[in-house]
Amino acid sequence: MEKIIDETIQGETLAKEGIKENNRKLFIESYGCQMNFSDSEIVASILVSEGFNTTQNLEDADLVLVNTCSIRDKAEQTIRKRLEKYNAVKKINPKMKVGVLGCMAERLKEKFLEEEKIVDLVVGPDAYKDLPNLIKEVDEGRDAVNVILSKDETYGDISPVRLGGNGVTAYVSITRGCDNMCTFCVVPFTRGRERSRNPQSILEEVIDLANKGYKEITLLGQNVDSFLWYGGGLKKDFKSATEMQKATATNFANLLAMVAEAQPKMRIRFSTSNPQDMGEDVLHIMAKYKNICDYIHLPVQSGSTRILKEMNRQHTREEYMALIDSIRKILPDCAISQDIIAGFPTETEEDHQDTLSLMDYVKYDFGFMFVYSERPGTLAARKIEDDIPLDIKKRRLTEIVKLQQEHSAYRTKLFVGNTFEVLIEKESKRSNEQWSGRTSQNTVAVFPKENYKVGDFVNVKINDCTSATLIGEAVGYSENN
Ligand code: SAM
Repeated sequence: MEKIIDETIQGETLAKEGIKENNRKLFIESYGCQMNFSDSEIVASILVSEGFNTTQNLEDADLVLVNTCSIRDKAEQTIRKRLEKYNAVKKINPKMKVGVLGCMAERLKEKFLEEEKIVDLVVGPDAYKDLPNLIKEVDEGRDAVNVILSKDETYGDISPVRLGGNGVTAYVSITRGCDNMCTFCVVPFTRGRERSRNPQSILEEVIDLANKGYKEITLLGQNVDSFLWYGGGLKKDFKSATEMQKATATNFANLLAMVAEAQPKMRIRFSTSNPQDMGEDVLHIMAKYKNICDYIHLPVQSGSTRILKEMNRQHTREEYMALIDSIRKILPDCAISQDIIAGFPTETEEDHQDTLSLMDYVKYDFGFMFVYSERPGTLAARKIEDDIPLDIKKRRLTEIVKLQQEHSAYRTKLFVGNTFEVLIEKESKRSNEQWSGRTSQNTVAVFPKENYKVGDFVNVKINDCTSATLIGEAVGYSENN
């Protein structure tokens, strides 16, 4: 079953060809959401200008940076193990410096630097532009820290160095932070308040990617549908914007249309959509532009209205179902995926059954499912006791995962016998004679290579499938090629 995060790339060391004159070596690892992988590309870009090249060899590194995730306890534990490993290497190479970036930096700064003394540098998600100064401090033998969250930092002016990618698909960050205050979630505390990036700089990045041969971009944010540019500043301050700013503001539907129109051959995806903020205007824009992919990641978290309220999700089960109905009506071929949390505090068997019945209603194409993990400082941790025993949480999760597997298999089978456009991304993991790519609906398809190459848009006739992969043969280039 797929996970919210691609486990195969968790902790992957990101490196790319370097600049000759640069003689310091940076080893950078990322954990967690797509946003972290995207942020590491911004960090690498800043450090390349500071005389660093990336390396995939930990033992060679002058500076080790780990971009961290706090979303669940398990994520933090994985990163702690990596910190132990870096410290073991540091014993052999005392010159090596270790820094923590991202969400754990925000949460655990004092612990890391003062109590445990296992890192030299702690940098929060809004402070990466301060890295050159912070590294100077570290070079001079002092620990360095900057975890200040910003009102307006979006890194819009930094052209990310694309790390470890396939040269075909890339992330483009459009919003930072989150204002939703879901009671289970640590993101508003670790990434700060929500702000949007200047659409002009988004457009410039997309055009630059197209010029470099990229064929697909994913617009990224915790809650992309809430995108709102009115000249800069926090989303929550929009109400005090001038009349002129309000009249000329750009929302997510406007942004999508702008990007789709500017690059009609580029595939466009976006993630994540929060049901409370996704409007029909976005669905109509998706229907209007062929190059916007037929895929919406629409986390639901629970199928019970009572639990949704406890989670502060701002919508009911019925409102979510109505949104699904609109998607099916406006975009009949659209794939939909979910995030679900099993065992949120006070969840009864009946609430759990509501989640399963909602899943039956939607029959999601994919799912990313988790047991509830209490996060210190969140509203749920402060107000509701984590009262569901782990064995019950796990049993509920197993039922949810099993049902999702059935639905994924059902959705995958519907492709068989038809022909779909696939963008070739890489060699199939199973065979070096096959290509692997994705349909507009985000389903993976594999097929014999013939004379096609990575980055080609190919029409693939689907002859067979496994529960999550389509198996086919190319029948020619698509008109998009
Ligand atoms: N911003 C998105 C949203 O609002 O749905 C996704 C944020 S989060 C990075 C990805 C997923 O992790 C969430 O949708 C949720 O299912 C899961 N998650 C977040 N906090 C969690 C927690 N405390 N325990 C278990 N899962 C959690």
